[in-house]
Amino acid sequence: MTNAPAGAATSAAIRSWRLAKSLMVLRDQINALSPNRSKVADGTLGDTAHSKRKSDHNPNVRGVVQALDLTDDPAHGVDNRKLAQALLDSRDRRIKYVIADGEICSGAGGPSPWVWRPYTGTNAHRHHVHISVADDPKLYDDASAWSLPGFNVPPSKAEKPVTKPVNPVLVKGNKGPDVERLQKLLVANGAKLVVDADFGDRTEKAVRSFQKAARITVDGKVGAQTWEGLLS
Ligand SMILES: [Zn+2]
Repeated sequence: MTNAPAGAATSAAIRSWRLAKSLMVLRDQINALSPNRSKVADGTLGDTAHSKRKSDHNPNVRGVVQALDLTDDPAHGVDNRKLAQALLDSRDRRIKYVIADGEICSGAGGPSPWVWRPYTGTNAHRHHVHISVADDPKLYDDASAWSLPGFNVPPSKAEKPVTKPVNPVLVKGNKGPDVERLQKLLVANGAKLVVDADFGDRTEKAVRSFQKAARITVDGKVGAQTWEGLLS
C-alpha cells in the first residue's frame, strides 16, 4: 500500500474489502478460547485516519486487510502481552509484525526478527494487540490453525464468575445453616460432633481444638482465619 491519494480504485477496494484468512482463523481461535472476551478495541478495516497513511488496516491492492487488533482483556484470559508473546514464540511464517504495550516485534522478514523493540508510533497499543501478516497472499491467506505456545485460557476460570460462600463470624449461641456448615467442616476435620446447626458448648470445644491443632488463635470464635483453616 502506498500513500496514493484516495482514488476510484481505493474506494472500490474499501467497499469490497475482506480480512486476510489467516487473521480470521486467529480471531476465531481467540473467540473460541474466550467466548466472553471484550471486543471494544478489536479492529480490522482502518478508519479515515488510517486510510491517509500506510497501514495494514487499509485494504491492499486485492482488497485484503492484513492487520487485526485484538482487545486486551485479562479478566477473560486475553492478556495483551501474553498473547503477543505466544504469537512470537510460535515463530509463525505468516507474521509480519506484532505490536503490544509499547513494543513491536517483526516476523521472519525482519528487521531484527522475533526480538521486541520499543514501538515509537503514536498509539502505544496498550489496549490491544496488533498483528500484521506477511504481504505474500500464500501466507496471509494461509488458513491453518495458529499455535499459541503457552497461551491458553482455562474456560472455568475465565468464564465462570467465582461465587464464594460468605463465611460470617460465628460464636457460641449462633444457629442456622452457617453453623451447620461449620459443624460439617469440623467433623470433616476430625471432630466428634453432632451436626445440629446449633453453636453450643460442644461446637465451641471442637472449634478450640481445631484452632489449637491449626496453630491459629484459640478463642472459640470462627473468624476468617478459622474458616480459611477449615476450608483449606
Ligand atoms: Zn492495529
